[in-house]
Amino acid sequence: MAAQDNYVGLDVGGTTMKAAVVTGAGRPLSKPVVMDTNPERGQDEGLETMCETIRRAVAAANLTFTNIAAIGVATPGLMDIKAGLILDPPNLKPWKNVPVRDHIAKAFGLPTAYQNDANAAAYGEFWVGAASDVKSMVLFTLGTGVGGGIIIDDKIIEGEHSHGGELGHVRIAMPDTGRQCGCGARGCLEAYGSATNVVKRAREDMACWRGPASKLRDYYTATDEDFTAKVIFRYAADGDELAMKVVDDTAYYLALGACAVMATVDPEMIVFGGGMVAAGEWFRSKIGAYVNRYGLPFPTKSVKIAFASLGSDAGFIGAAGCARMLVQRKQ
Ligand SMILES: [Zn+2]
Repeated sequence: MAAQDNYVGLDVGGTTMKAAVVTGAGRPLSKPVVMDTNPERGQDEGLETMCETIRRAVAAANLTFTNIAAIGVATPGLMDIKAGLILDPPNLKPWKNVPVRDHIAKAFGLPTAYQNDANAAAYGEFWVGAASDVKSMVLFTLGTGVGGGIIIDDKIIEGEHSHGGELGHVRIAMPDTGRQCGCGARGCLEAYGSATNVVKRAREDMACWRGPASKLRDYYTATDEDFTAKVIFRYAADGDELAMKVVDDTAYYLALGACAVMATVDPEMIVFGGGMVAAGEWFRSKIGAYVNRYGLPFPTKSVKIAFASLGSDAGFIGAAGCARMLVQRKQ
């Protein structure tokens, strides 16, 4: 069996998909193979691209399919995890009701696991990343939106309707007065803490800034189209007070989201991943300070707050981990 303790992990995103063979110890055997998703070309072509990415990943590892025990596939929601269906994801338009798990299982004749992409990333960090030494963890991924995943005792909390761990839509402000979220509601964490909304808040703060001269404001005035969350975090690290205010508010909002989930599942560790974690230790300690101030006293004393360690590889590594879990459960 040991010779076949290899798993293909495939992480499908709206722009690209990537795959690699990962060992039973969580080690990728090559750099991931990356192909364009091109969702606009339709779902039949999309399924074929997935199969081709998997084939190339096995070739890149110098293996054949006889060396592969199972395949794991992660996609963005909306989805039906139990049924193995991509439903109607905003990132994969115009795909609808795509039987992704069964298609891939049939194409390769291998057991195939299917999972939400943020859940898979959380499982990757839990298996061999920042949370590999703990028994329970929650991941917040900060990007265009705020994704989430919850792992308790090696189990991914998928929920009955495939919406477990949708932490971007934990409500941190009143639903009538809070900021507008992409989901249609108001007051969601995502409406405050995503990279997109960090930029929006920065623009608003700039308009009414009465503090000292700000290089961030000068930069914004000169090059608005390159104004990103990364730029704001960079200026904050350099001591720009306006940028520091925006980042401090961001830490506050993320901490409120973290406190809500701590009161729900009381995890051993909370992990933050995505572009903004490049801000480093001072950002992490700010989040920690707000968690201490607003969380329930007992769990906040010992909860660990960490940054993700697998970067953008977490998705395919976690998908491979899901494939490994599937086979282990069947044995
Ligand atoms: Zn929302």
